[in-house]
Formats: sequence, C-alpha cells, structure tokens
Amino acid sequence: MLTNLTPQPADKILQLMQKFREDPRTDKIDLGVGIYKDASGNTPVMRAIKEAEKRLWEVETTKKYTALAGDPAYGDAMVDLVLGDAVPRDRVAAAATPGGTGAIRQGVELIKMANPDATIWLSNPTWPNHPSIIKYVGMKMAEYRYFDDATRGVDFDGMMADLAGVKAGDVVLLHGCCHNPTGANLNMAQWAEVVDSLQKTGAVPFIDIAYQGFGDGLEDDAAAVRLVASSLPETIIAASCSKNFGIYRERTGILMTVSQEAGNKPLAQSTLAFLNRQNFSFPPDHGARLVTMILQDKVLRDDWMEELENVRLGMLALRTQLAGELQRLSGSDRFGFLAQHRGMFSRLGATPEQVERLRAEHGIYMIGDSRMNIAGLNEATIPVLAKAIIDTGI
Ligand code: PMP
Repeated sequence: MLTNLTPQPADKILQLMQKFREDPRTDKIDLGVGIYKDASGNTPVMRAIKEAEKRLWEVETTKKYTALAGDPAYGDAMVDLVLGDAVPRDRVAAAATPGGTGAIRQGVELIKMANPDATIWLSNPTWPNHPSIIKYVGMKMAEYRYFDDATRGVDFDGMMADLAGVKAGDVVLLHGCCHNPTGANLNMAQWAEVVDSLQKTGAVPFIDIAYQGFGDGLEDDAAAVRLVASSLPETIIAASCSKNFGIYRERTGILMTVSQEAGNKPLAQSTLAFLNRQNFSFPPDHGARLVTMILQDKVLRDDWMEELENVRLGMLALRTQLAGELQRLSGSDRFGFLAQHRGMFSRLGATPEQVERLRAEHGIYMIGDSRMNIAGLNEATIPVLAKAIIDTGI
C-alpha cells in the first residue's frame, strides 16, 4: 500500500531554509523564513511567557484532558483580544486549535460542512498554505486581485471589481492585518468598502489574523476584524498566537465564528468541538494556558504588550532605514512602499531571476516571489541589502 504514495510538492520555504543552512558564506543574510528574529538573529522566548511557564510549573497539578474546544478561559481571553466588545459574546463560538494553521484547516472544514458548494476566494497572492489546505480539503477556490505590481500597494479597484462577482454563500478569505506575503494592507476606509461589498453579495468573510500587534499595534491591527464582525451577519476568524506571543512550536491558535444571532451559537460551538474531535480530539493546552495566564494577569499582560510593542517598533525602524538607504542609493522614492508596508513581510517586486541573483551573488535569501522577512535584517545588513538591490537592477 505505502508504495502507492506519490511525492507531494516540497514546501518552498523549507527548501530555501535548507539551502541557507548549507551555504558556507559567513556574511549570508536570511530573509526567507517567516519567524521574528531580533537584531542578533535570535527568536527569544518572550519575558511574560517565561514567567508564565515558571508559575505554571508551580501551580499545575494535573495534565488531564481539558475540553474539546480547549479551556473556555482561553476562548474568552482570545475573543476579547481579537474582537474586544465589537460583537456580543453570546454570538461568538470559539475552539482552540493547533496553531493558526489548525484554525484555518478547521475553518475550511466547517465551511465544507455548512456549504460544500461554496467557492473560497483568496487574495492573489496569499500565504501558500491557504490554497494548499483548501485544495486538500476538496473545496473550490478562486482568486481576487490584491497586489499592484507597479505601486507595490493594494490593487484596490481590481480587488473590488473581483469581489463584486462573488456569489451569496461564497467565502472571502481576508488577512486581518499584515498581509503575508506582500505587506500591503487596506486602510480602514477601504475595509468599509469591502464590508459594503460583502453585504451586497452575501458572501461570508473568513479572516486570518496571524500578526496582531506586528503592524500598527494590538488594537489598530484588530480594527478591521472588528469592523467586519460587527457589520456582517456572520464571520469566521482564524487567529494565531505563534507570532505575537512568540510560541511557534507550542501550536496555539483559535477558530472563532460569529453567528447571526445568539440562538445560532450553540450549533456553531458544538460543530467546532465535533471537528476538533474528528481531527485531533483535544487541542494542545500548554501554549493556550500561557496565553490565558498572560492575558488575565495585569502585570504579565503589560509586560507582554511592552515587549510586543518593542518588536513592532523595531521592525518599523528597519523598514524606515531600508527605505531611506534605498532612496539615497537610487535617488528616487520608488522604494517608499517598504516604509508603508506593515508586518514582518514585504514583497520587493523583483523577478525570480533577480531573487536568484541576490542569492547566488550576494548570499541574500528571500522567497522566489521576492517576499522578504524584514525581521531578518539589522542595522549592519540593511546597507548590504540596499546595495545588492541596486546592483541587481531591481
Ligand atoms: N496565516 C498566515 C497568513 C501566516 O503567515 C501563518 C504563519 N506563517 C499562519 C496563518 C499560521 O501560523 P501558525 O500555524 O504557526 O500559528
């Protein structure tokens, strides 16, 4: 039987990481993998996480199962973090999942159970795992225009034209903030137009929010999700704690649904629990518990917010410095978009050949579509990257 298996496409990002590790050059620069790194290239455990782990070790007396949807306190804390008081809590169902990826997977399965004929619309481009999961689950998908290659901003007219053609009952997958892979985001006036469009077509928004706190701050980054959830009858939300709590390997995420009425919530809640049961039974608890402890304790929460804010401001400073350096070298403002983009990524807008030259000639690694991880830079490597970009004719 096992000989019947056929090879699956290799993950391009993981392949690139491997190439980077094998590169003997000491001055190589990794802008590929999507994890936060500080100026020395480390991905530290956040202070509040360390402290919560210490406390947890002292107070935890059992490792017995939690609940199928995870500890309800985690659900409450995360609904509060993502949605604030944008929608009445009695309309929101929530279930802990293994990471944001788990939430997306469960979300796609939920959509399949509710409307197997739905088409799921994805931004072009999007995080490659979106289409990969949707295809694997067996749902139809389509793309809406998103990135404008000329301005490196959002092709908003194209996006609106495509969203106008979405059918009632279809699903539109939107990045809540810090779009991956482009870094280009909608402003709030544009989000309001997206809401109008969804209202007109009767499509259901599915929001993936994996970088809350990495863009314009914890509250500002949640503003779009809150606007959508409070304006439309139904919303599905997949959130990840991997980045903003720095707990990638703990696999901490959550799937939330906002039902039209409180009366519909129990069905949504029991379906989320059912889906967890089928796929992995009880969700991982360690990361979720740390997140809950931090969000519930004022001192831990303040410390976490301060550290996260420093991470965010550090990435913004790198963006400003890189845009400034490129302006100096090119004598033009054509790289100003780098300072406008938000989150960990920016799509530079280089061709695959130019990306390959950056790797071969300069030891600079970015994804083939020219997505770079801004957090992979520091003050010393920015001038090196800027010069390489100009030398490569980008
Ligand atoms: N959505 C997007 C857009 C992402 O970039 C990521 C992480 N790369 C995720 C979801 C999920 O992350 P995780 O499963 O590690 O929580």
